Order: sequence, then C-alpha cells, then structure tokens
Amino acid sequence: MRILVVEDDALLAEGLIKLLTRAGHAVDHATTGKYADRLLAEQAFDLVVLDIGLPDIDGFEVLRRLRERHSTTMVLVLTARDAVEDRVHGLDLGAEDYLTKPFSVSEFEARVRALQRRLVPPAAKRLVSGLSIDVAAKRVRAHDRPVELTPREWALLELLITHPGRVLSKEQIADSLAGLDDQLTANAIEVHVSRLRTKIEPAGVHIRTVRGFGYLWEAADE
Ligand code: CA
Repeated sequence: MRILVVEDDALLAEGLIKLLTRAGHAVDHATTGKYADRLLAEQAFDLVVLDIGLPDIDGFEVLRRLRERHSTTMVLVLTARDAVEDRVHGLDLGAEDYLTKPFSVSEFEARVRALQRRLVPPAAKRLVSGLSIDVAAKRVRAHDRPVELTPREWALLELLITHPGRVLSKEQIADSLAGLDDQLTANAIEVHVSRLRTKIEPAGVHIRTVRGFGYLWEAADE
C-alpha cells in the first residue's frame, strides 16, 4: 500500500516507517498536520497512520478535512490518551481504526494487515499474461496446464503480483515469507525465485533481477 505516516515523535515515526517499509509498503512521512493535509490533498494514499497530537493542526482536523474532500483513504488513528472520547471522536470523523499508545509492534502490524485486506478484496481469479491464478484456492495454471508450487513459491508469487512494477528487495521478501521460514537467507531467496521463474516464465511473465536492489514483477493484469 502507499502509506502516509503522520507523527511528530521522531523515534516512533522512524520505527513505524521501518516496519511498514520492510512489509513492502511505500511510505511517506509528515511531522505536522498542515504538511499532512497538503500531501493528502495532492497525492493518493491507501492508508494514513495519523497521530492526534501534532504541533499545528491536530490529527482530528487533518481527518475532518480529508473526509470533507470525500477521500477514500483509510485512516488508522494513533491516540496518546486512553480517552474514550478521543476514540469515539476519531471514529465519528470517519477513521477506520485506532490504536492507543503505547502499542506493540505486532498489534500495529496486525491492524495494518487487517486494513490492507479491506482495501484489496482477494479476487477469486486473476489472469496475468498466460498465468491463471486462483487466489482463494492457491492454484496456478500456465496456459491452462496446472503449475505445482511449494508454499514458499506461492507466497513469493502472491507478494510479487500484489506489487506490480515495484522492485522488492530480498529483505522485504524475507520479511514477507517470515511466517513460513523464520530466517530466509539471500541465497535461499535466490533459489526460490529461480525455481518460481522456471515454473511460470513459460507463461510469458518475468521476474526481473534488478542487480543490487531485488526483483521486479513484469507482467500486466489482463
Ligand atoms: Ca504527537
């Protein structure tokens, strides 16, 4: 997702940006409400992680202006106080979810994943070049012949098709596959990519190696 982090606490912001970037998101950062408001008015974001206590206009005002523009950008409010009114106010103004500081890394990540699922309803089937991908059943066919993928190859394919046109670093890939294998080395990733390539490239899709950076999925949805 394209995510804007609006947070004036430098340490917290740095932590959140690192987490989100490693999860494969494209992240921008604003430290003031006014700058956030300007970015949101000028650019399209999927999600805003929005702190309420900001040095100029507060997060509620940023949220109010965002909804006034009928933006569909999702908002995850971060509130420092455990005040019920703050949460209610945020949700009333149209925030999708909130977190009370301090929160754990895993809680933050879980909320972001939940919002991402809301954004992209898993299409039952996708056709990419000569590949037919049944996301729900985790089945892939190349030119109508079944392709057998290991769970890791499937996870890798899923990661690549959800980030078309973007270079994914080996570190991002390792993080995304972390649930399946806790510490995938760069070499292991190369092996998985190479095996996946062999299986799907006959269908006309390409996983390009961007030397020194990572991998790029080169195929258009049809
Ligand atoms: Ca703050």
